[in-house]
Amino acid sequence: MKKIAILPGDGIGPEIVAEAVKVLECLRADGLDIEMNEAPVGGAGYEASGKPLPDDTLALAKEADAILLGAVGGYQWESLDISVRPEKGLLGLRSELELFSNLRPAILYKQLADASTLKPEVVAGLDIMIVRELTGGIYFGQPRGVRTLDNGERQGFNTLVYSESEIERIGRSAFDIAMKRGKKICSVDKANVLECTELWRDVMEHVAKDYPEVALSHMYVDNAAMQLVRAPKQFDVMVTTNMFGDILSDCAAMLTGSIGMLPSASLDANGKGMYEPIHGSAPDIAGQNVANPLATILSVAMMLRYSLNESAMADRIEKAVESVLDQGLRTADIYSDGMQKVSTSEMGDAVVSAL
Ligand code: NAD
Repeated sequence: MKKIAILPGDGIGPEIVAEAVKVLECLRADGLDIEMNEAPVGGAGYEASGKPLPDDTLALAKEADAILLGAVGGYQWESLDISVRPEKGLLGLRSELELFSNLRPAILYKQLADASTLKPEVVAGLDIMIVRELTGGIYFGQPRGVRTLDNGERQGFNTLVYSESEIERIGRSAFDIAMKRGKKICSVDKANVLECTELWRDVMEHVAKDYPEVALSHMYVDNAAMQLVRAPKQFDVMVTTNMFGDILSDCAAMLTGSIGMLPSASLDANGKGMYEPIHGSAPDIAGQNVANPLATILSVAMMLRYSLNESAMADRIEKAVESVLDQGLRTADIYSDGMQKVSTSEMGDAVVSAL
């Protein structure tokens, strides 16, 4: 029996997670051997215990095989001290569970090709996986800070640092994923300027020797940004550093034009993972039953594929999502003329029927 921690969080979190839980319950009735337990995180965690990551929630997440998270944050917590803001709940989970490998797919279903700002022929059928290193690099490197120089001028500084072992583990994670996909990886760096990413390139070459079936190429980050917008379908898996991945994955997400459709995963070295939509808690539409639950439902598909070893069930969920799109069902964020507008719960029910 696999244990799944369900952390709905704030804003639209509880609404979209409820739909994803319906999907898991449907699969459980079909033989998926899981136990689900729910706990508060983010603003909800703060309200329950004074901490965005309550001790009981962390304990539940630690003993789970996988975690499904909605989203955290909301206006009412924005003035809190930074140490107890909802986002700290997320960062705490990532660091406590050593979730160093962030998987950010950018998929554009052909039914939604018009949602992109790019021409349909450039993006229709897009399916990229960006693997971003999540716990190292310049966001965590020491020394860091703002200091005052002798002449009284202030100077800000951060450090880009990666050890070989950190690069190797994100490399292996990306190559393992490439083996489950198109067996093609593009490693993105700035090796012409940054020594640290020269090492990155070197270690990627070393890891590639263990994956003879996977074709590895390298690209400088500035070119990668251009290519993502010019001809994004040339990419299958992209692997890159924390900061480059932060920027490129948002760029790739926007190729699809629909924030409510994109799932994500953050994995540890053993394949345990936290799965969540890429969007936030959308406080502007919370409680109205209008949010798009598909990113969260597709996060469940990623969970089945990457943590629970149930690829066939993952495929079934993705096909069910395609099928509801084919039926013309759309939540407000992806609605266009001639389609049928549905609520959050109607969309969840439609996916369950298609399953
Ligand atoms: P957001 O992603 O919550 O919302 C951006 C816009 O997209 C809003 O107009 C929202 O209504 C819409 N949107 C988002 N998800 C949607 C969905 N599933 N269906 C339909 N529309 C959707 O980003 P924001 O407004 O910048 O942030 C709101 C809050 O979320 C803040 O507190 C922020 O800190 C938090 N946040 C949390 C996460 C996370 O939990 N991983 C990520 C980003 C932002």
